[in-house]
Amino acid sequence: MAIKAEYIWLDGVQPTPDLRSKTKIMEKGDEPPVWGFDGSSTEQAEGHSSDCVLKPVFTCPDPLRGGDNILVLCEVYNADGTPSHTNNRAAAAETAAKFAGEDPWFGIEQEYTMMTVDGHPAGFPDGGYPGPQGPYYCGAGADRIFGRAIADEHIDACLHAGLALAGINAEVMPGQWEFQIGPAGLLEVGDHLHVARYLLHRIAENHGVVISLEPKPMKGDWNGAGCHTNYSTQAMRADGGYDVIIAACEKLGKKADLHIANYGAGLEDRLTGLHETASYKEFKYGVSDRGASIRIPLHTKEAGKGYLEDRRPCSNIDPYVVARLLVETTCG
Ligand code: ADP
Ligand code: MN
Ligand code: MN
Ligand code: MN
Repeated sequence: MAIKAEYIWLDGVQPTPDLRSKTKIMEKGDEPPVWGFDGSSTEQAEGHSSDCVLKPVFTCPDPLRGGDNILVLCEVYNADGTPSHTNNRAAAAETAAKFAGEDPWFGIEQEYTMMTVDGHPAGFPDGGYPGPQGPYYCGAGADRIFGRAIADEHIDACLHAGLALAGINAEVMPGQWEFQIGPAGLLEVGDHLHVARYLLHRIAENHGVVISLEPKPMKGDWNGAGCHTNYSTQAMRADGGYDVIIAACEKLGKKADLHIANYGAGLEDRLTGLHETASYKEFKYGVSDRGASIRIPLHTKEAGKGYLEDRRPCSNIDPYVVARLLVETTCG
């Protein structure tokens, strides 16, 4: 029986790649084959040598088409067999193998903003501004919530696809939402997050809404959008883990510049020190502190083990890069 396989990959658009996809008709039950595309149309190759290679790495049911149809997330390779410049999964796979004994887990809180097709925040009244922030976070009611139908459809889609969705919530700025993926392993968290982002773009498309992963879509007194990354190793989750977490925070402080440089384009506009952020110019960690670079959850301090929350990553991060750096910095 013929099924539809939607091949998904990251393009070469800078500074923040977008997701692209196309459909392959294949036989149900067959292994999705290596495929290709025109890299000159996605800023991944030159026109005179434009073939790029799609290597399937993660497959799941397609909740949008239903039936036996599937989604196929791919890594992109150049024609000469080297990873494309936007393929950050290849390097993450090496780190995942090297530090498998640490058993790292990640939980990523993906914040995003719903926009109109002309780039106006969809939660804001036409040509104007809503009342100041306060009532919108986790709110209910047509005067404070925009886009719940999309966010709710997205839950069902993620669950149908078998993604490690942990939950969702309405955010501080109107029309801004969050979903969480995790806890999941180093590659798994990135694979699931990319597929969840893809599903969100597609569902919003059906509603005439555009999903923005801009870290600061509205300048001024409006919260930005992040990808808080919750992280633990086996040692952090075991008895005595609190000391391991503190040691990890100290190591992260020494490599703050490296992390900041890889935590999403436009980070400086979001990490101002206001709106529940620490300035990108300083590094601090603290228990229960939402104004710190790294927050140690209160329950982790009380239990003496658990995880840390890196609050610096922006909504537009590549999760393979952030997860890889966290492991390399804290376990290296
Ligand atoms: P916040 O309180 O910052 O809003 P959330 O509840 O939105 O936090 O997200 C917390 C995330 O942390 C979830 O994705 C959850 O799966 C993940 N998580 C829970 N335990 C761990 C752990 N031990 N290591 C890594 N991530 C974890
Ligand atoms: Mn959250
Ligand atoms: Mn949030
Ligand atoms: Mn958080």
